Amino acid sequence: MKSFEVPIIYRSPLITAIKKKRKEQDKMKKDFTPTLLDLGPLQIYLARHFGFCYGVENAIEIAFRTVEENPGKRIFLLSEMIHNPQVNTDLQAHGVQFMQDNYGKQLISFDELTADDIVIIPAFGTTLELEKKLNDLGIQTEKYNTTCPFVEKVWNRSEQIAKKNYTIIIHGKPKHEETRATFSHAAANAPSVIVKDMQQTIELAKYITCEKPAEQFYEEFRGQYSESFDVTKDLVRIGVVNQTTMLASDTQAIADYLKQVMINKYNPSTIEEHFADTRDTLCYATLENQQAVTGMLQTDADLAIVVGGYNSSNTSHLVELCEEKLPTYFINNEEKVLSGKEILHFNFHTKEEILTSYYLPNKKTVKVLITSGASCPDALVEGVIKKLSGFFPVNTNTEELTKLFR
Ligand code: SF4
Repeated sequence: MKSFEVPIIYRSPLITAIKKKRKEQDKMKKDFTPTLLDLGPLQIYLARHFGFCYGVENAIEIAFRTVEENPGKRIFLLSEMIHNPQVNTDLQAHGVQFMQDNYGKQLISFDELTADDIVIIPAFGTTLELEKKLNDLGIQTEKYNTTCPFVEKVWNRSEQIAKKNYTIIIHGKPKHEETRATFSHAAANAPSVIVKDMQQTIELAKYITCEKPAEQFYEEFRGQYSESFDVTKDLVRIGVVNQTTMLASDTQAIADYLKQVMINKYNPSTIEEHFADTRDTLCYATLENQQAVTGMLQTDADLAIVVGGYNSSNTSHLVELCEEKLPTYFINNEEKVLSGKEILHFNFHTKEEILTSYYLPNKKTVKVLITSGASCPDALVEGVIKKLSGFFPVNTNTEELTKLFR
């Protein structure tokens, strides 16, 4: 896969050495066992895959290059470029201004833009409406477009489904930038509706089976269906695509459920008339990182630490997987590891940061699992390792460990 130039401050010599070594040993990426960092009384198990993905590195490279090549120009980003606070803060420090917050709330009006300005499209992509708005203002969008190719793949899949006259069901977070962009592209080709989870899918299915009155749909799915959506006609032939960063098992369960609903309603022999049998549209990084967490969870450990932006969808799913097995702490940088006794961490269910005391067990050897999201710099993970190792009489340091992996 192509390699990118991202600022050195995001890299970690230790993690780079580990990733390189693991890649050499496992070229086909079949091994999901974690990497053990044996520090004596502290044993850290690092997931096989974590950190910056293709789309994030691509976006970072384009954004910083744009800043470098355009001194004196006003540079805007349609929204956060990726869901990582450090990267976004760094871009702002380089003079890049964000036009919208994560939920589409306008921070800078489009009226303030001129044809001379540069507007960068984030890795999540954007809606056709916003792209047209920029083009109408005379702003070129192709050159500074960081939309991840794996997101574009979802748009292409939607188009293929639409061409066969299926309605597009999008499994994603309705307010997430990527899902909004995918919805816009899908809705340009076919009736489209977003389901955020299994619960909403079950409710949607009740309109397929006519258990619920059609009129109720428009209230229940407000803001999640395309213009002129006709619930009485547009749920007869359906196909499913997903936001690229959903939990693989959820996405599979939703597609299987909807397929079964169609089988029950129609003749099973004609299921292809009613359900487009396609594979999920999760991206490679989502799948690899989730498989790596599953592999890491085979280790009998005391706790897990997941590093990433609190609004990062892919990171929250890694947390969800870990939480099922052991105490899990979701932090966005090493400063949240306050001491050997206290940690400040994010509860993504209640959306609040909470303080937990005595998170490290009082044992001779403590085993910690660590992973991070696809938008998290490796330097932050190394920071967490260093911080934790400061609380133990460890027998080595990260520099020595780096040598071991070279
Ligand atoms: S998580 Fe996947 S879709 Fe999103 S930017 Fe990374 S590679 Fe692209």
